[in-house]
Amino acid sequence: MAEAERIPGFATLSIHAGAKPDPTTGARATPIYQTTSYVFDDVDHAAALFGLQTFGNIYTRIGNPTCAVLEERVAALEGGTAGLAVASGHAAQVLVLHTLMTSGDEFVASKKLYGGSINQFNHSFKNFGWNVVWADPDDISTFEKAITPKTKAIFIESIANPGGIVTDIEAIANIARKAGVPLIVDNTLATPYLCKPIDYGADVVVHSLTKFLGGHGNSIGGMIVDAGTFNWSRDKKYPMLSEPRPEYSGIVLHETFGNFAFAIACRVLGLRDLGPALSPFNAFLIITGIETLPLRMQRHSENALAVAEWLAKRPEVAWVSYPGLPSDKYHALAKKYAPKGAGALFTFGLKGGYDAGVKLVSNVKLFSHLANIGDTRSLIIHPASTTHKQLSDAQKVQAGAGPDVVRLSIGLEDKEDIIADLEQALGA
Ligand SMILES: *Cc1c(COP(=O)(O)O)cnc(C)c1O
Repeated sequence: MAEAERIPGFATLSIHAGAKPDPTTGARATPIYQTTSYVFDDVDHAAALFGLQTFGNIYTRIGNPTCAVLEERVAALEGGTAGLAVASGHAAQVLVLHTLMTSGDEFVASKKLYGGSINQFNHSFKNFGWNVVWADPDDISTFEKAITPKTKAIFIESIANPGGIVTDIEAIANIARKAGVPLIVDNTLATPYLCKPIDYGADVVVHSLTKFLGGHGNSIGGMIVDAGTFNWSRDKKYPMLSEPRPEYSGIVLHETFGNFAFAIACRVLGLRDLGPALSPFNAFLIITGIETLPLRMQRHSENALAVAEWLAKRPEVAWVSYPGLPSDKYHALAKKYAPKGAGALFTFGLKGGYDAGVKLVSNVKLFSHLANIGDTRSLIIHPASTTHKQLSDAQKVQAGAGPDVVRLSIGLEDKEDIIADLEQALGA
């Protein structure tokens, strides 16, 4: 095969996609373009930029050259047509639904999601008139039953936070296809190294870059990836994409921008008006993190499997929920959707219940007791005494945060040291 025809592999894309030496200085790493605004060539150039007739930089709320490298890189890793970097994972979710929904519309969401997303959907989104209908990924038929004429999208996580749940993306994509609505997949926990939802029918992928893509616990960020697969004009359900835009001299975004119209709409309507732009400094840190994504995700998964296997044999431990374990309920789905490893995150139960959980998080030394995931460092939390403390016992159990549950995000330290820390803390 000729050199020019080679499709670069994942590790190569992680380092090179979207970036080239800076044309003015030769700088090899992507510079931080710490600037709000950009000089026009002349009045015609300015008019063309504002009319969306040409691509270019205007103002960093709408686009920035450092953020553009990050956008192209994540879109390449996911196999999408375009990306949009935003200030946080939650901002990405707001912009995606803002582009699809109007007040009174519905979307169907998996009830096994990151707790912050459940709050966002149940409370803030309801205030916008965007009504969530919950479905159960352990019973796929609940997604089909939840669809109504008002449904505008389906939202799931590939590997779901916190319990090590693997969602049957392909089965749910088929339901979305039949209903004529896009499937949105939050791929934060898996990252495109472990799972590429677009290969299984996702139309939009969202990320919290804060976690494994940045990977070092130092920057909040979010990303929207357009798969370029959805026909936004078919039944006029998505007027932002299929109707003329008065502020852009009547252009129709889907007509003008084709298979990356969704990413453009999120940028030139959502980001423009709602405003959650990513700082170029955070984009720089996240780009640097992504360069080692394949190495890190491999090690995260190897370490997590070793720790899960060790915990499963401990007398203090009642159960371990990690899809990488052959005995796990989600193991078959993990083998299909994340064959290279099941990621860093899992939960387990302590026979000693609430008090044993409090004792464990109080006695760890290497683990950090905090509410984050996806750091180089190993992290631990006992949801019942912290993030879920305000709930009743029954509500805690329903949320997967029963009194005995401990959540780990396994880091990149030596696995012997991670296990030794848990051993001393369990015995303390
Ligand atoms: C953290 C997280 C989010 C929210 O991302 P932020 O960057 O904190 O806004 C969304 N989904 C998942 C799965 C997450 O882990």
